[in-house]
Amino acid sequence: MPDDKQTKFLLDEAELPTHWYNLNADLESLGVEMAPVLNPETHEPAGPADFEAIFPEALVAQEMGTERHIEIPEPVRDVYRLWRPTPLYRAHRWEEKLETPAKIFYKYEGGSPTGSHKPNTSVPQAYYNAEAGTTRLTTETGAGQWGSALSFATQMYDLECEVYMVRISYEQKPYRRVMMETWGATVTPSPSEKTQAGRDVLAKDPDTSGSLGIAISEAVERAVQDPTTKYSLGSVLNHVLLHQTVIGQEVQKQLKQAGAEQPDVLVGCTGGGSNFAGFVYPFLERHVDGAPKPRIVAVEPTATPTLTKGEFQYDFGDTAKMTPMMKMHTLGHDFVPPPIHSGGLRYHGMSPQISALLDAGVIEATSTPQIPMFESCEEFVRAEGILPAPEAGHAVWGARHEALKAKEAGDERTIVFNLCGHGHFDLSAYEDFRAGELEDFALPEEEIDESLAAVPSVE
Ligand SMILES: *Cc1c(COP(=O)(O)O)cnc(C)c1O
Repeated sequence: MPDDKQTKFLLDEAELPTHWYNLNADLESLGVEMAPVLNPETHEPAGPADFEAIFPEALVAQEMGTERHIEIPEPVRDVYRLWRPTPLYRAHRWEEKLETPAKIFYKYEGGSPTGSHKPNTSVPQAYYNAEAGTTRLTTETGAGQWGSALSFATQMYDLECEVYMVRISYEQKPYRRVMMETWGATVTPSPSEKTQAGRDVLAKDPDTSGSLGIAISEAVERAVQDPTTKYSLGSVLNHVLLHQTVIGQEVQKQLKQAGAEQPDVLVGCTGGGSNFAGFVYPFLERHVDGAPKPRIVAVEPTATPTLTKGEFQYDFGDTAKMTPMMKMHTLGHDFVPPPIHSGGLRYHGMSPQISALLDAGVIEATSTPQIPMFESCEEFVRAEGILPAPEAGHAVWGARHEALKAKEAGDERTIVFNLCGHGHFDLSAYEDFRAGELEDFALPEEEIDESLAAVPSVE
């Protein structure tokens, strides 16, 4: 048995996962049915050709494939070794503070070069592009987490990187931009004069602060125009979620070390669903193979309640309606989220896989306003020392909620959550919280109804 003061559960580099786990292989066994992705114009099921203008073949094959385990290429594992395997911690001090009989563990992904889980997918995406002869990757970024992850990854395989950064973030959050430029990326405030989509918006509204939707349109336009330029997305799609499954596989080995092989509750935050999926999917695989299923809880902001209030229907991935239509939990592609501090969770849609798992009752979803979320983070940082990204703070809040329920029930449950990033670039948010200057945005139902009314109905 492990010493019960043990705090860090570490794996040797030799235990780095060798394969990613592909949930597509087990959807049927889980009673989950996926609706086909549709061409945005014809509404016919999309084929590989609909994706290959912007993604390399290997990633399109992963997007659609049903092979259960996909080998991680050795050059990708070599880069993963820079920060993986990542630690699993037992939250002894926080448990004490909460006076809970529950055992709380957290997986920490903030020790990656860019401070979050995102390089788990930016690295393989850059690798497969380099193998396919791509010379440049384009993407969008809001607060800068994804742009940073792709800037770093492209550098590993000698690719150029072009990041369209939402103008207001470009102006107000210069440090992420400086980081991306230091990795060698070109960062352009969006909308820009470089693309037709950008020029159109600027012609109408020269002083616009930009949006993620416009930045996506610019990055995609660049990729469509040049055969050796491709586009890269940091969440939502199956292949992105697939790459994140290194997280949960490591957690399983680490829980075994801790003598807590079968956790009772798993908690993660959801923006587009990638860190949550990467953390929980390996437990679904084990369940398909006969193990009991833990309760699996997704936590999102009350201000962008995609899973808890959105409709499960077909919608576009972007505001400009250029992407294929996917059946997912959505607030409508025109939805403009309130200015909460969790930039990574301000997306109108959700991964179609995560949406279907919720619909089938395999996972649960809940939400919190940002003030209680920051309160949980402050309590956590004072007990455990690590300052969570506000996105990850939703998982902290969720774990706390579960720990207090365990206390009420007098039950020694094992709760595990994914602390998917640190908040060192989010200190202005903590500053506003500490100054009492934050608002808990409650989203009026009419606003959701209104933006959903603009989505064309497709069956
Ligand atoms: C981008 C980001 C998220 C949201 O993306 P998911 O795909 O839902 O994981 C959450 N947390 C952090 C720290 C992020 O950088």
